[in-house]
Amino acid sequence: MRLTVLLSLLMLSTTLVYGGSVGALSGDEASGVKWKNSTVKIAVSTTIDDSAPNIKNGSRIREALFRSILRWEAVADVRFITEYVERETTSTKGNSGDGISLITMSSLPEFVQLFGKSGSREAARTRVYFDKRGNIYEADIFLNPFALFSTDGSYGTFDLESVFTHELGHVLGLRHNHIPSSMMFDAVSENGPLGPLAPPRRDLLSADIAAVRSLYGTISEDGECCAAVSGRLLFTGKGTKAGVFVEEFETGRLIAVTESSTDGKFDIAGLSDGIYNLFWLRDGTFGYIDGYVDLTRTNGTIIETQRVRSFEPIYVPTFIGIYGILSESAVSLRKGEQYRVFFGGQDAAVESMTPLVRGPFITIDASTKQVENYGRGLFVTSFILKVDADAPSGAYSVMFISEDGRTGISLGAIDIR
Ligand SMILES: [Zn+2]
Repeated sequence: MRLTVLLSLLMLSTTLVYGGSVGALSGDEASGVKWKNSTVKIAVSTTIDDSAPNIKNGSRIREALFRSILRWEAVADVRFITEYVERETTSTKGNSGDGISLITMSSLPEFVQLFGKSGSREAARTRVYFDKRGNIYEADIFLNPFALFSTDGSYGTFDLESVFTHELGHVLGLRHNHIPSSMMFDAVSENGPLGPLAPPRRDLLSADIAAVRSLYGTISEDGECCAAVSGRLLFTGKGTKAGVFVEEFETGRLIAVTESSTDGKFDIAGLSDGIYNLFWLRDGTFGYIDGYVDLTRTNGTIIETQRVRSFEPIYVPTFIGIYGILSESAVSLRKGEQYRVFFGGQDAAVESMTPLVRGPFITIDASTKQVENYGRGLFVTSFILKVDADAPSGAYSVMFISEDGRTGISLGAIDIR
């Protein structure tokens, strides 16, 4: 089996977020910032052209951008107004920006410096400016002049449509999440060697839709949006943030994700009517919140304070794959088909763990499970997994459970299209 490890995490698409008068802030601190009137005027530099040496000739760049914009406009009350301009760079002065949002790719010294360390491994950066009230007034997207781009899925290039969609998410004020099939995952990956078997990820996941709706609401008036749930997790021990995840009760699909504050408070908005399970992930432990949340009858639910027990450290696979190729991206599977899927992690305990997926649409044949030791502490488990023909599209998590109570999870590892 060929072991291909695609890219390292966290490095690929860094967001630099600056506050207007308060100096530089990190992405985490920029939570909740948004455009005040939901309209984003954005200038697109003519430097982004397929005559650029790092963009594949014949790439349909403007179509890619257009479709990226439509994706966000289709699900939330936001509008982009674009115009093409000759300018190559922003005229930034200190941390206040110049008021013009620009998408550009330039080899001017400032950009060579910006991307010099990451070389070709990083697709783009987005810089967001906002005022003290949290209103965004400028956001610039810089494509990396050292990275390779295309729009046809070419191996080893970044898909421009994925990159634009991800970076426009930042322009709208969205942060990264930890779901590998999400548009706002930490990293935009280069196209892998599987070609049409693993097309670039271009669609928004439920979690992306919930995130953008939590900021801007929706244009549809069907009453489906936007319910919220909030609560507080009481952990023993020192406070660190927890990831809080919303899973659809009936299907097991991952619907939304947020991060709690260090004292365990969380708030998830932008949800459709439905019945959900909530679970949390923190410092290598995870667990479900008791009961379920019914948002079909109320617009907002507050979960009473939950005391949270410590769990055994969990098994979190680092790599996921099909066709024998491992990567850090989710695997995209088609309805009505079955696959041998692979999970790789640094824990021999997986040998005694049983994999399962919640909900009725994905079944695992545990008798087909195999575990291989790849050396250097990497254990790869694989098994046959079948996707029901009626499975709703979206992200599903795979859990691992051992008889001695140890558990593991690979969040949103399966992306059904
Ligand atoms: Zn990013």
